[in-house]
Amino acid sequence: MTMLKIDNINVYYGAIHALKGISVEVNQGEIVTLIGANGAGKSTTLRTISGLLKPKSGHIVFEGQNIGGMAAQNIVKLGISQVPEGRRVFANMTVLENLELGAYLRSDSKEIKNDMDTVFSRFPRLAERKSQLAGTLSGGEQQMLAMGRALMSRPRILLLDEPSMGLAPLLVKEIFSIIKDINATGTTILLVEQNAHMALSIANKAYVLETGRITLSGDARELAESEEIRKAYLGG
Ligand code: ATP
Repeated sequence: MTMLKIDNINVYYGAIHALKGISVEVNQGEIVTLIGANGAGKSTTLRTISGLLKPKSGHIVFEGQNIGGMAAQNIVKLGISQVPEGRRVFANMTVLENLELGAYLRSDSKEIKNDMDTVFSRFPRLAERKSQLAGTLSGGEQQMLAMGRALMSRPRILLLDEPSMGLAPLLVKEIFSIIKDINATGTTILLVEQNAHMALSIANKAYVLETGRITLSGDARELAESEEIRKAYLGG
């Protein structure tokens, strides 16, 4: 079943035409990845879905509802949550406070407490560092915190922007295994990555972006084996 459908969107930054008719479909339960070089438009696509940018034309439909141009907080309430590139945790707040902020649009305090416990069991390192200021965490821990914070809004779909950025290979593996776990417990994932190898290894479906356009799409495993992708994105 289609959960999220982006249909031919055009997005501009002033005069810069960043997305030139992008269409993407995400089915419920899938991991879908957008790969492509720096500046291809991956982050712009996520920011448009989450309502931080408005498409000039085209449609974004989430579970049957047109969300293109809707206010960002209403989009969060519908069940879409984004983990921004570069984590963006609140450095001067504690781990616990950062997580609480992720639930600020909710009022079901008992369920919030349950979800907090779930986040702590998924990320034991965050539990150990509950009262520590987020700015003192390592890069990998900050990524976990940003993911935990996004999960606190209880998303139906999680938008992840380059979760592997700047992390050592072992941590990248750990983060990707957590992404798989989150998906396995029922959250649909739209993953933006420059690490095409890792992204294709966990995704069901993939889209390749080049300068604001989708140039290739299909089954992630098939794409990982295609000559074109190997040359351009997987180092030959
Ligand atoms: P990256 O990994 O660098 O984030 P990306 O594929 O996510 O790459 P975007 O950040 O979506 O690419 O950028 C798409 C295009 O839009 C690029 O040409 C970029 O220079 C431009 N762009 C992005 N943000 C802005 C902005 N705030 N103002 C103007 N142009 C922007």
